[in-house]
Amino acid sequence: MAVEEKKVTIRRLKTAKDLGKFMADYYYELDDAVKSGKNKIAWCTSVGPAEILRGMGFLVYFPETHSAMLGTTRMATDLIPAANAIGYSPEICSYLTADIGAFIQGKTPLSKAFPGIESVPKPDVLVYNTNQCRDVQDWFAYYADKFNVPLVGVNSYRSVGEVTPSHTASIKMQLENMIEPLEKVAGRKFDMAVFKEAVRLSKECSDLWERVLATGSAKPAPLSFFDGTTLMGPAVVGRGTEAAIDCYNLLLEELEERVSAKIGVIDDEKFRLYWEGMPVWGRLSAHSKLFAGLGANVIASTYCSSWIFSALDPEDPFESMARAYTELFIVRDDDHKEKYIKEKIDFFKIDGIVYHNARTCPNNTNCLYGMPQRIENETGIPSLIIDGDLNDLRCLSDEQTKTNVEAFIEQLEENR
Ligand code: SF4
Repeated sequence: MAVEEKKVTIRRLKTAKDLGKFMADYYYELDDAVKSGKNKIAWCTSVGPAEILRGMGFLVYFPETHSAMLGTTRMATDLIPAANAIGYSPEICSYLTADIGAFIQGKTPLSKAFPGIESVPKPDVLVYNTNQCRDVQDWFAYYADKFNVPLVGVNSYRSVGEVTPSHTASIKMQLENMIEPLEKVAGRKFDMAVFKEAVRLSKECSDLWERVLATGSAKPAPLSFFDGTTLMGPAVVGRGTEAAIDCYNLLLEELEERVSAKIGVIDDEKFRLYWEGMPVWGRLSAHSKLFAGLGANVIASTYCSSWIFSALDPEDPFESMARAYTELFIVRDDDHKEKYIKEKIDFFKIDGIVYHNARTCPNNTNCLYGMPQRIENETGIPSLIIDGDLNDLRCLSDEQTKTNVEAFIEQLEENR
């Protein structure tokens, strides 16, 4: 029997407005710093060592968040060919190609979203961590050349099983080695007390974000993965600041009210799904409506949880940062990843898993080496693979996605 697609009710969170203001303040502060020369600006990878940069007085800009905006505004697909034309392959990260394409063409979605901002803030230094992939290093190397500014970074481990003292010792040493070149750019001495405070704030932000996501375990879930992809803004760009903490306190309060009143983000939550992989930024709204219309709530994801850094400890800032940034899901081996996903299935009471096979991000794609089948065999939880991409909309077929999702929900229905 075919599953019926119904009229969709998706309840927006009131706090989304406060988070929107947070993002506006964040970008205007960066823009003001460029215009006034008040602060130095560091560009940082999304799971890079932001706490060190904050501790040295830099304002921190994250190109990945900019590229996700290129995705949500559906500007990315048209910009990618400009990067391809100078030798960056269509097969590599479409965050990288969209962002470099935007730079070449002098375009940014910031101008439309935040009137008065004409361009991304010019960097004084670029800082990466390859814990997520090598693409970020190549991406930042392009800008180091264009802006003629220093490039510093951490070259991390990949496919890590247990995180051992030798892993953290090596990463810690690389973090400490950044201080001297960063002092030269900042024009001031590193201050351990300020750094520790940044780590403390970052840990508080991370703990709150974890609690926000954990509200999804309630039945019905008060939020969805699609909400999470925008709600996570402060956890990505604002960790190490008080403002991000204020946002998440408000958000948590609203979500806890929903949980107490048993108000779900959608009506009639029949199926609870887990999303593994990157979002399709240009289809957030369409995917949200597609699943909701079938009575399925995508309530949790690996992706949104990637900004939980539980190991951070202000009393041992370098060592704990080294651990926190090596313990991440994306850095780990398949055994660890499978254990992690199985824990999420239990915690969020998941009925099915949707894997996004993102064409240009093998690093966040975990469905190509038998993982879905292994997890399904062990847990009995069925899974679906969606072919697509984070930013390059030429890599997906909306019709195919819709047909596959409908068939998957039908399968879940029949299994009941
Ligand atoms: S993890 Fe994937 S999406 Fe993120 S920068 Fe690396 S290749 Fe791009």
